[in-house]
Amino acid sequence: MAELSERDVAGARAGGGVAASGGAGPASDGLPGRVAAFVAEHVVPHEGLLDAGGPRADAVLRELQERARRAGLWALPLPAEWGGQGLCLERYAAFAEVEGASDHGPAVLGSAPLLDVLMLRAHGTVRIREEYLTGLVAGDLRTCYAMTEPDVPGTDPFLTATRATREPDGSWRLTGRKWFTSGAGGADLVTVLARTDGAPPDRDGLSLFLVPTASPGFRLVRELPVLGASGQWEIAFDGVRVPADHLVGARGAALAVAGERLQLGRTLRCLRWLGQAQRAFDLMAARAVTRTGSRGPLSSQQLVQRHVFESLLALRTTRPLVHEAVARLATGEDAHVEVGLAKVAAARTLQQVVDAAIQVHGAAGLGPDTALPALLRTGRAARILDGPDESHITSVARRVLGGYV
Ligand SMILES: Cc1cc2nc3c(=O)[nH]c(=O)nc-3n(C[C@H](O)[C@H](O)[C@H](O)COP(=O)(O)OP(=O)(O)OC[C@H]3O[C@@H](n4cnc5c(N)ncnc54)[C@H](O)[C@@H]3O)c2cc1C
Repeated sequence: MAELSERDVAGARAGGGVAASGGAGPASDGLPGRVAAFVAEHVVPHEGLLDAGGPRADAVLRELQERARRAGLWALPLPAEWGGQGLCLERYAAFAEVEGASDHGPAVLGSAPLLDVLMLRAHGTVRIREEYLTGLVAGDLRTCYAMTEPDVPGTDPFLTATRATREPDGSWRLTGRKWFTSGAGGADLVTVLARTDGAPPDRDGLSLFLVPTASPGFRLVRELPVLGASGQWEIAFDGVRVPADHLVGARGAALAVAGERLQLGRTLRCLRWLGQAQRAFDLMAARAVTRTGSRGPLSSQQLVQRHVFESLLALRTTRPLVHEAVARLATGEDAHVEVGLAKVAAARTLQQVVDAAIQVHGAAGLGPDTALPALLRTGRAARILDGPDESHITSVARRVLGGYV
């Protein structure tokens, strides 16, 4: 029997679903295969345009979202009660990898607001739920999430300088600056971390607010291109008035709510980074077997074979770590160690595999004809966003060592 190539294995995975370590069987409805085909056919060809941002990117995004709706692939993991298709985390995890093989997949397929929708469903007031959730799931409203600030370390939220003060009528007045807020440029709503009580570095006294970006005093300060790509913004709140019922979670409960969101958010990112690493691997392997010199194809060179081996090893050892995090989150178990391990491993794997793929492509790997430069950018940012490697390494090691005391 012929041996399966890694591409066949990846294809089978996309078509048959990835068994989470919790034991979820193959998806019977072929969703992963349909999502993979949709991303390849409709998203990948438009990546350059979508990366550039601006009104044209916005129009293309809306057109692609419409195609996803027509294909029956819109908002698959979003709650059914608000208009999504209600797939549970483990079923979503079976194709989040192929959906995320393009950075734009989740936005085109309507999965991007999942974290915000789950957070607002669990912690939003009745008004927030009734006013925004249907629009967010439908893709009519867009939201972003602002924790990180320019003047204090993002790894130390206790130093948050953005301040919310209570007005006599019960509303709040928000003042401060945030940066690297993904998607703020086109957002209708922003969730903001602000200090409501005490002073930095108190561990208590931080709260979350949902702020409509049309509010007087909200300002887009500037766009912050990341290695040439659009999408990140610096924003300011100059005395923005926020209604009392736009507090998300209890006053002072921000870090508990944010922690819940971050665990799931990091895990979903890991799945997407795996999809992108697999994509880089496929590009590398295809190049190695087709680029031929006087001594034969690149694939016959042992040092190229080493790139292939090391990349495959990274992919195959990271994937189970990510699915272990998914399985623990799905059952509601504590997943700090699993998510920390998965996050560091997936970010490293993406960077390593993309770097190897670029090396095997030579100059073409740095040029405009493949997705590799964009994947490299994502891989580099992956080691910083959602907490840099060092934070996760320290936090996992402390927790594990705590078990030996
Ligand atoms: C592409 C991109 C998108 C982002 N999107 C968002 C977003 O949507 N919303 C948002 O709020 N933020 C966002 N961020 C910000 C991101 O979450 C922060 O950059 C990250 O949390 C680190 O914070 P910082 O940049 O302030 O780094 P700092 O906290 O200043 O840390 C700088 C460096 O110090 C070192 N360091 C920090 N802590 C430790 C430690 N415990 N041990 C050893 N070394 C340490 C690490 O090397 C770290 O990289 C985004 C960032 C990027 C690059």
